[in-house]
Amino acid sequence: MTQSNLPAALLRLLKPRLPQMLSILRAFVLAESPSLEKAPADRCCAIVAAEWRKRGARVERLPQKHRGDHLRIAWPPQNSRTPGQLLVLGHYDTVHASGTLAKMPFRISAGKIYGPGTFDMKAGIVQALFALDALHQIRAPLRKRIVFLWTSDEEIGSDSSRKLIEEEARRSDAVFVLEPSLGPGGLLKTARKGVGEAEIIVHGRASHAGLAPQDGVNAVHELARQIARFQQWNNVRRGISLNADIIEGGTRVNVIAERARAVVDIRALRLADMRQLEKRLHALRPLTRGARLEIRGGFNRAPMERKVSAALFSLARSLAAQMGLSIGECVAGGGSDGNLTAALGVPTLDGLGAVGDGAHSAHEHVIAKTMPQRAALLAALLAES
Ligand SMILES: [Zn+2]
Repeated sequence: MTQSNLPAALLRLLKPRLPQMLSILRAFVLAESPSLEKAPADRCCAIVAAEWRKRGARVERLPQKHRGDHLRIAWPPQNSRTPGQLLVLGHYDTVHASGTLAKMPFRISAGKIYGPGTFDMKAGIVQALFALDALHQIRAPLRKRIVFLWTSDEEIGSDSSRKLIEEEARRSDAVFVLEPSLGPGGLLKTARKGVGEAEIIVHGRASHAGLAPQDGVNAVHELARQIARFQQWNNVRRGISLNADIIEGGTRVNVIAERARAVVDIRALRLADMRQLEKRLHALRPLTRGARLEIRGGFNRAPMERKVSAALFSLARSLAAQMGLSIGECVAGGGSDGNLTAALGVPTLDGLGAVGDGAHSAHEHVIAKTMPQRAALLAALLAES
């Protein structure tokens, strides 16, 4: 078989396997795995690990104290001397608490697969599993070692997995992230905004609002002025946004507010903008005499700039075309672990997971017939990268 028809051959092989994909997806979804509940998350981890072990992959379970264990899976299973590594990255935790299945059961209706974590991103893990199966079955010669990393805390900021992800990414020539795609056409994510959280605390001076207003420094007023100031830094076209989404301050209506606080969601599409925004925030100075500002926080995930994805995206598009599929790209306003690997300069392509809709919501679902296609696309990328 020539290389040029490998993607089409992979797709032919995978299409009839949809029923098996669905049954494994069902098992993954029935094992609820909220990021914040270690015991159920660990049960899901064990089920995922078992599927990979069945295929002879080398599975390492990396124990975590407070979160579900992470899984590192290597292929080929024996330590090969192949130079180079490809990283397939995803998470098995979901935003849905235990018991969600009772009101949001796993079900397939009109070609859509519903259930907590189907779209974000258990279907992605299933697709990766079948991608490996297909490569194995077709005896595609792999040029590089493949490492699959399934983590347990992506939905809560990846505190326990970040180091592991970064270490593995540094050893890799490319990273394929199985986060959901966008829209019915399954757009890949070739850029993602950097995301962070800043906290602005104003210290004023309390005083009786009626008897001695001149002695007070109103922290709420100062905070309002600061918000009005940084609100003007928003630049939708450049992908810069700041939103004070939580504010609090003051104690009683007749006491001039001594303290006020805002938590600000910050996002930027470019690295340079991220740095500038952080600098500007930390350079904020009080506008009211006697007030003091305390600024905390900053970006948690740097932006994934398109240049880090461009080459992998062209490859994906041409492989998809060989399967008779057309594939597009988009910019995502939210971050993922792809931001972490892209920030290291490692070529990263995100949104390779499921096609569907409704992430983090009650109507979360995957379009069933796309699962073999996406598995074939990933398999082809792994063979051709
Ligand atoms: Zn996700």
